Amino acid sequence: MHCNICHAALGDPLYESTSDQSLTSLCELRPGRTRVWLCPSCGHLLSDELQDVARYYETEYRILLDHDEEDQIYDTRGDRIVYRTEHQVDTLVTQLALPEGARLLDYGCAKASTPRMLLTRRPDLQVHLFDVSAMYQAHWDRFVPRERQAMHETPPDWQGRFDVVTSFFSLEHIPQPARTLAHIAGLLGPQGVLYGIVPDTFGNIADFVVVDHVNHFTRPSLHRLLADAGFQEIVIDDRLHRGALVFRAGKTGRHTAAPEVAGTLAAAQDLARYWSAIGDRIRAAEAEAGDVPSAIYGSGFYGAFIASTLRQPDRLRCVLDRSPFRQGKTLFGTPIVAPQACDAAVKRMYVGLNPSIARQAMAQVPELAGRELQLVFLDEAAA
Ligand SMILES: [Zn+2]
Repeated sequence: MHCNICHAALGDPLYESTSDQSLTSLCELRPGRTRVWLCPSCGHLLSDELQDVARYYETEYRILLDHDEEDQIYDTRGDRIVYRTEHQVDTLVTQLALPEGARLLDYGCAKASTPRMLLTRRPDLQVHLFDVSAMYQAHWDRFVPRERQAMHETPPDWQGRFDVVTSFFSLEHIPQPARTLAHIAGLLGPQGVLYGIVPDTFGNIADFVVVDHVNHFTRPSLHRLLADAGFQEIVIDDRLHRGALVFRAGKTGRHTAAPEVAGTLAAAQDLARYWSAIGDRIRAAEAEAGDVPSAIYGSGFYGAFIASTLRQPDRLRCVLDRSPFRQGKTLFGTPIVAPQACDAAVKRMYVGLNPSIARQAMAQVPELAGRELQLVFLDEAAA
């Protein structure tokens, strides 16, 4: 195993999941353990490449494809919901001075919601789209002409064509990111700028254990990737987008110094210990419970992580979720129901919520008050 950023040889994995199945970022199960390596040289975190990765993105990775307007909630401000796409456009227009009529390519664009919304604010931009899948074309056709679309490969006359290349949450999926960066660098004109967003595993710890994110970029590893592709004026920010690193880099400009690696190595080791402890805790609680009927509270990422970690998930009677959009569905075959519909036999509840808010959230579930329930929290503090 070698680092896919700096090519240093890697030893044993830093983290290996206890379960023989792994979760994807879309909360699907995939066979095999999740393993994460830490590169001591550049501070990169990387996982095994997904088996059959090309087919997965060609046909299976259907992010938010079912509804045209479907989006993820980024924030609520008072009564107003801010969706992720809107926040990404807000951030882009404040961070980049896009010249009138600029040629912009969204690279790995999937549904291309971000450039689509950007065009409503900046109709002068010449937006182009590229992805490794053909399944988004119906979406693209609504706002970009065919000659500005490319699938699988970019046409030869796109070389050196672009003022800006954008990349929103795609580099984390790519097994050979250096190759992609070289491609992007070739598509940019001499004054071109690359602007992108990748998950920040330290700002969103769930990113560490999702198996389809082969890359967990850190500040030093992202800087190294960009610098190796010849980029200058590299700026990486971890506050503009919660749980993510927002970066920009130019084909020309002043040289920027590489961030130090030592702090990242220590933080990565802490994170690996944290996830290993969560896996051990779920398994220990399950062993201690014996045949006691159990349930999971929360059908989102953490609930799915618990279900994927249990040796005998068939002991689960139900999964509880307050969201009416989740109720009536199933989590890996177990029905998702409202808290008040929890099976009366359930005596043990695994709390599948973000550990940072789990205790407070569970204190505010009136439907479960008065029940004799043993709550299993994922992190250290006593329940
Ligand atoms: Zn490395």
